[in-house]
Amino acid sequence: MSEETALMAQGLTKSYGKVRALRGVDLQVQRGEIFGYLGPNGAGKTTTIRCLLDLIRPDGGAVRVLGIDPQADPVAVQARTGYLPGELALDPNMTVEDTLHYFNALRGNKVDWGFARGLAARLDLDLGPVIKNLSHGNKQKVAVVQALMHRPELLLLDEPTLGLDPLMQREVLRLITEAKANGATIFFSSHIMSEVEAVAERVAIIREGVIVEVAETASLINRALRRANVRFKQPVDIGPLANVPGVTVLSRDDGTSVLLQVEGEMDDLIKALAAFPVSDFETERPSLEEIFLAYYEDDQKEE
Ligand code: ATP
Repeated sequence: MSEETALMAQGLTKSYGKVRALRGVDLQVQRGEIFGYLGPNGAGKTTTIRCLLDLIRPDGGAVRVLGIDPQADPVAVQARTGYLPGELALDPNMTVEDTLHYFNALRGNKVDWGFARGLAARLDLDLGPVIKNLSHGNKQKVAVVQALMHRPELLLLDEPTLGLDPLMQREVLRLITEAKANGATIFFSSHIMSEVEAVAERVAIIREGVIVEVAETASLINRALRRANVRFKQPVDIGPLANVPGVTVLSRDDGTSVLLQVEGEMDDLIKALAAFPVSDFETERPSLEEIFLAYYEDDQKEE
């Protein structure tokens, strides 16, 4: 494992009784990356994160976090990371401010309170109320602030925007990108594709305890199938377009427009279209969501 590796899991396995939650997970996250961990409910995201922090013990495999084996020194790992669990257990009778002081004490009183208050203000989180009077969304904001407030070098965030309204979701994504700009590594799980697409440089997709894809977010989207909608000035014979490598005709009307699916580069199609009286040409890239769903649809077909 190089100095540049922030997180490493190799052959990670974990079962809960008969449920095989992780079936050999391999992951490598570089320092300074924003890495998205995608999968539907029950795929094994939370279990992976818990194993990385030694909150649960894997049955097999190896883990390194910031070069440390969390089973050998969990305190060192937890001191250098910010963790946002799926459900953070909070004392219902403490105020928000006392709760944040409590988490600060757990982490060795390293928090700059100006920074912590600034985070709360940006999330529109009042420090005065007691936890039991907070909405679900406001509790989630407490969880976000406690994960970020000591400016950790590694953030492990399990569904960080869960229960937040769209404005606050965007603010949390901004906080994540700012943490990266300040040198942090961010590993976050999500099933909201748009947010992963917006901030993650690389993504891993987990399906039933196995990583089925690891790729740069942009390349995953680029290499997927695209659609092209072409309109012509007058009816044409689109026959030759069907012979262009990588092109499939999805639908055509009376010859004045055609919907194509394109695999790979657009170059051959664009050159072929030069021979046609084109009035309009639109292409659509799939979203990460469509790519993700395709993985699961394939899975269902296999089953
Ligand atoms: P979600 O998005 O719903 O949080 P996840 O991808 O985080 O899902 P995990 O929580 O890691 O998935 O769960 C993986 C599998 O392990 C699921 O089938 C889940 O039901 C099971 N599981 C998780 N925790 C336990 C537990 N404590 N006891 C028994 N089964 C568990």
